[in-house]
Amino acid sequence: MTITKVRRCVDCGAPQEQVRRAIDYAESGLDNVRLLNVPVWVCTNGHEELAVPAVTELHAMLAQLIIRKPAPLRGAEIRFLRRQTGLQAKEFAERIGLTPVSLSRFETNARHATRRVDLLIRLAAAALIAGRDGNPFPSDLAPLVERLEAWDVGSHTLRHVEAAAPEREWETAGDIR
Ligand SMILES: [Zn+2]
Repeated sequence: MTITKVRRCVDCGAPQEQVRRAIDYAESGLDNVRLLNVPVWVCTNGHEELAVPAVTELHAMLAQLIIRKPAPLRGAEIRFLRRQTGLQAKEFAERIGLTPVSLSRFETNARHATRRVDLLIRLAAAALIAGRDGNPFPSDLAPLVERLEAWDVGSHTLRHVEAAAPEREWETAGDIR
């Protein structure tokens, strides 16, 4: 004999059935993440309840992808990375030498981070996440550290280059990875 436990909708109490589909994962705070084959519980009245498996692992993986994306970080991604570190905005801002107001402006897209701040955010997030999990700093990110150091040493020249560089260069530069 098989006993099937009926799962019921939290909104209306109607029985639910599980389907699998691709979803845009807005719950993550990111508007550019699409998950495939996600279990979704749908009741007979059409209410839907997401059942994203292994959320912790998924968010950890998304953070690593964001840290390594070639394109500039967007506000939602900065916020996502900061949340993954477990730090409050004020603490995270202090770690990278920003005021909480500046960080907030970047997180809400009111201002765009310079490439240098973009790099700092990635590296701080990578270091904080690795440290929290008891892992070494990811070795594949060493080129980013070198890039940041070069920036700091030759900031005058680089500031000039940065000002002259087209917005899209960051996105296509192969050596960022
Ligand atoms: Zn329902």
